[in-house]
Amino acid sequence: MDLRISNLIDKLAKTRCLTETEYNALLDGYTPEAAQQLATLATDVRQRIYGNEIFIRGLIEISNICRNDCLYCGIRRSNAKCTRYRLTPEEILACVETGYPLGFRTFVLQGGEDSYYTDDLLAGLIASIKAAHPDCAVTLSLGERGSDSFRRLRDAGADRYLLRHETADEAHYKMLHPAAMSYSNRMNCLVSLRETGYQVGCGFMVGSPWQTSAMLAKDLKFIEQFKPDMCGIGPFIPHHDTPFRDFSAGSVTLTCYLLSIIRLMHPTVLLPATTALGTLHPEGRELGILAGANVVMPNLSPADARKKYELYNNKLNTGAESAQHVDELRQRMRSIGCEIVSSRGDVRRAADA
Ligand code: SAH
Repeated sequence: MDLRISNLIDKLAKTRCLTETEYNALLDGYTPEAAQQLATLATDVRQRIYGNEIFIRGLIEISNICRNDCLYCGIRRSNAKCTRYRLTPEEILACVETGYPLGFRTFVLQGGEDSYYTDDLLAGLIASIKAAHPDCAVTLSLGERGSDSFRRLRDAGADRYLLRHETADEAHYKMLHPAAMSYSNRMNCLVSLRETGYQVGCGFMVGSPWQTSAMLAKDLKFIEQFKPDMCGIGPFIPHHDTPFRDFSAGSVTLTCYLLSIIRLMHPTVLLPATTALGTLHPEGRELGILAGANVVMPNLSPADARKKYELYNNKLNTGAESAQHVDELRQRMRSIGCEIVSSRGDVRRAADA
């Protein structure tokens, strides 16, 4: 392997950071050997912090109604072909009741920015979930809201919030979003979530239109400095009814390469092998774990909602609402030496590590 790349990998493993120029060089210097070296180091680190445990999150897609118009997303407001739905609090609670006996101890409520879900409604829902199952964590992934709203939902019992920054390059952000959305608001939300006491997740798509390795280097620098508790990255996949329909999908191997780098930067980070990775490759989630990820997020949404929550083409559509599905996932993880555990799966603090 190129000695320079090998030295960069050593430096990353030892110091947990590189300069932006060095991240860029590491990305441009991709080879299967470099990927293997990174993956070996990353899985060693994961093993040291989390052993062979894989955390599961029950994903509940509560609504595909969205006021936003992100150019990449299949549930964007302008997509008139999207059949819209929203789940009532009762339906969401029913998903939780399905997931709990299957071993889920974290529930992720994700959806479009749908004004039906007022602070009052969500606070009541979160409180009901926590009252029924005090041993569970509730994660929200409901887009940008005001800091008062973040506070209210946190007070109601929400533990974590996922809000991908999407790209750390402001000019690129503008190319992926309508004029009404702003990079600074997205970033300010992340800061506000942290100040409110959430475990916070950021993240980005790999291979989104016009993305360069210089931009990815910026994403890595941002993640290194922001130190998120969770980090969601997955390949961009085009959706046939969006302006990005003709762009090609991101790469599974590059996504895995980035997962390894992020694990080395932040040994304790909760790092999912995402649905998008599983969509592009039949063993995508296993590949993600083997690159250093330690979380999988099976889908607990009702089958009908799963079909309609179509962020991108052919989104992996298998649910986890039966013991059989969870068993299959368990077997898949066992086949690569990992074990799904039934716990909240909170982030380990450096002191515990
Ligand atoms: N409304 C919420 C949830 C968005 S969906 C929010 O704004 O955070 C969750 C993630 O799916 C997005 O953050 C985005 O990174 C990803 N996503 C959306 N469209 C995608 C596509 N076409 N390919 C891959 N990932 C996509």
